Amino acid sequence: MAVTPMMAQYLEIKARAEDAIVFFRMGDFFEIFGEDALVTAPLLGLTLTAREKGDQTKIPFCGVPHHSARAYWLKLLHQGFKVAIADQVEDAAEAKGLVKRDIVRIYTPGSIDELEALTDKAPNYLIALFEDPSTREVAFLACELSTGDLRLGLMEGEDAILPLVQKFAPKEIVTRRFYQESLQKLVAPYLLDAKVSFGVLPEKALREGGARHALLERFVLEGRSRAEVFLLNGFFHYLDDLKVSPTQLTRIKPLTQQKTMNWDETARRDLEVFETQRRRTREGSLFHEIDRTYTAMGGRLFYHNLLEPSTDPQWIRHRQDVVKEFLSAPSCLSAVGDKLKKLADIERLFTRVLSRRTSPQELAKIRSALQKAEALASELKEFGHLRCQKEREQLLLAKDVCVRLEKDLLPEPTGLGEGFQVFQEGVDEEFDRLRELASGGEEKLREYEQRLRDETGILSLKIKQHKSYGLLIEVTKTNLKKVPASFVRRQTMVNNERFVTDELIELEDNLQEAAAKASAYESALMEALLDFLAPYQAQIAAVAQAIAFWDVTQGFARLALEKKYTCPQLSEKGEVVLRANRHPVVEGIVGRDQFMPNDIYLGHDKRSLLITGPNMAGKSTVMRQVALSALLHQVGSFVPAAEARLPLFDRIFTRVGASDDLARGQSTFMVEMSEAAVILKEASADSLVILDEVGRGTSSEDGLALAYSILFELAERIGAYCLFATHYHEMIPSVASLRRVGMVQTEAIPGEQIKFTHRLIEGYASSSFGVEVARLAGIPESVLERAQSFIVDSSAREASPVAPKKEEGESLSAREARRLGVMLEKLERVNLNRMTPLQALQWLHEMQSSMDQVDEAPLFSDLVL
Ligand code: ATP
Repeated sequence: MAVTPMMAQYLEIKARAEDAIVFFRMGDFFEIFGEDALVTAPLLGLTLTAREKGDQTKIPFCGVPHHSARAYWLKLLHQGFKVAIADQVEDAAEAKGLVKRDIVRIYTPGSIDELEALTDKAPNYLIALFEDPSTREVAFLACELSTGDLRLGLMEGEDAILPLVQKFAPKEIVTRRFYQESLQKLVAPYLLDAKVSFGVLPEKALREGGARHALLERFVLEGRSRAEVFLLNGFFHYLDDLKVSPTQLTRIKPLTQQKTMNWDETARRDLEVFETQRRRTREGSLFHEIDRTYTAMGGRLFYHNLLEPSTDPQWIRHRQDVVKEFLSAPSCLSAVGDKLKKLADIERLFTRVLSRRTSPQELAKIRSALQKAEALASELKEFGHLRCQKEREQLLLAKDVCVRLEKDLLPEPTGLGEGFQVFQEGVDEEFDRLRELASGGEEKLREYEQRLRDETGILSLKIKQHKSYGLLIEVTKTNLKKVPASFVRRQTMVNNERFVTDELIELEDNLQEAAAKASAYESALMEALLDFLAPYQAQIAAVAQAIAFWDVTQGFARLALEKKYTCPQLSEKGEVVLRANRHPVVEGIVGRDQFMPNDIYLGHDKRSLLITGPNMAGKSTVMRQVALSALLHQVGSFVPAAEARLPLFDRIFTRVGASDDLARGQSTFMVEMSEAAVILKEASADSLVILDEVGRGTSSEDGLALAYSILFELAERIGAYCLFATHYHEMIPSVASLRRVGMVQTEAIPGEQIKFTHRLIEGYASSSFGVEVARLAGIPESVLERAQSFIVDSSAREASPVAPKKEEGESLSAREARRLGVMLEKLERVNLNRMTPLQALQWLHEMQSSMDQVDEAPLFSDLVL
């Protein structure tokens, strides 16, 4: 038995919509059927029922009223679903037979521009990938449709995919169908934490090849590879299928901005830049802690800056100068803040103007934002003189838009067709006349009602709107005898009867006609207004950019004031000098007065530090705060220190703690070594490398050997800036002999209960006080006693071959350690069998003088900061 025509229509649409949840319009409802209903009903809190399909089987379904459907599909999008809207595409009154329905839009998480569905201060990227079968080149595209940010480029091998995916953190990944599975495997570690939807690049578009899509005419594609052009073509066809017209995309940017630091997700994650490592929440991250922007545009710019910190000294300097200027003019700073507060997101709102999906209320928000931008510009008149002229003037670029919106729109417009309260009087004379007619209707009706009451003497007579009969005169049963002959009966109810008159019918027709006309006219006026606005895209983008610039810089200034940050200087000599440096997030957690600031110095030729100290003493914190200070410097912010001099780092690398990556099939140790391998391959003399406890995931012997060798390579061969924390005290003597590595320790005061001062002091620690820290953590006393006696037993069994014997808690000075290290290294290398007695004497002499050289080299503590 065949299904009903309606079901057949639904099934055909569902087949086309593939994995999207179909919202199928039926009368005043959107219905969701079958599997879609089973999946979504519990998520949306809807009641599930079943409906006859016509073939004697039933199909589950649930529904939502059409006027509130939007909230439901936004909720689904938020959870990573796609939603296809199948609406009536012909007037139900004029349809012959079944009303025609079609997909009018497919919403996907990466292509939406509804502000409610987006996170204000974070981008919402869709990425697409394509490998050219003939050249094997792989093109990568990242697009933020809500702001018009489009990036395109070729990738260097498959290894580059995951870092790029992690960088753009997409909500949607679009690729050829057959490639989807292997891509999913490649990006599995990213997919673990993110809700991502997948889309398919239309094969047809790829086969037809080249720049066939009409939209491609607006870009300069010369010099682009085939893979890139194919991908762009396929991407635009994909958007066509979703019924998205991306007029906002007018410029293609490279995948990575020029003069920016290319740093990877590992470091961003370890340093908790955007979210915390454990709970993966924004709260507790660097961004959350120090973001002082007021607007979504400023927030997103700051986000982008942290994602791509600058390596351009002039760019950094410019921002710092603006921050300084704000600090010297506190009243201006607060006035600027006032203007930025509640300033709407014109960047994303204007995209909705371009896609013609905006509302009068949204246009009013744009107007108010532009007014605030103008007020901001006058506030900044005296500011920065010529230096900031560009950013100030940019705020005024969309003045024409503002003027037009002021002239056209009422102060608080309603939606279209909701009582004609959108446009100002005088915008259009004909419209004013129609509106007058239409909105005078209620008044005319009341007048007529009163007249009938007076004429008939029926005081309770009422004119009411009835769903299927239109306007009716209602008379209670008791008054029926007063009804005149001109009243024509339409309905008899229990307590009353309902009538019409010729005059009422005429009045109703007139009113309906006027309302329909006024409504059509209003829509036409809106269209004309949107036509006027569309060409101003570039100007609006420029204003948005300028707002973001002022917002970020005022945010830096407020942060600096509030947290006593200082302006870092660029160190031409390549030194890192941080006096009284703090960790921007930890100081907030432990409290400003409780946080122990530390001094860090890395010289041009002694760029690395070995950091030892007990567990919990602050090694990781101090290393991270150096990296975060460097990061803040390179986004143009002040830094948490009393004094700061920093070089420009080309990369920041980190390798922190133990974590396995079972999703990628890698053990703890394998992850650790893979990350270390990337660092060793990619770090340069201008990179900052944070290594926290490398070599922990294997045997102590292997771990120790690897830890030392990795430090050696980075510090001595590559010459990178390296902060290296370890509990492998056995490597201290060897490290002491290294020319480019200094040694510091985090102070702890042993006693009945160990005390951490979190102070960084010269030298190295002899113990990690692991057992003591374990006691603090609540390990049972019996276990601790056994651990203690195990330590005593094993040290009795094998005395350490390299480390000098020392009392618990006693530290060697750095100088002693270095002497010892140099001596041991030389001793190991000498081949006595090949020496004459005279040569041996000579060797001894050299050894003695080399000890003096070691002493002459400056030590950390000798440097005056
Ligand atoms: P482990 O060797 O066990 O990894 P660690 O030496 O790396 O320990 P951290 O993780 O840096 O120690 O610090 C431990 C805790 O000490 C931090 O969570 C923080 O609460 C506190 N802390 C760290 N540094 C400071 C500081 N400078 N001032 C105040 N408290 C600090």
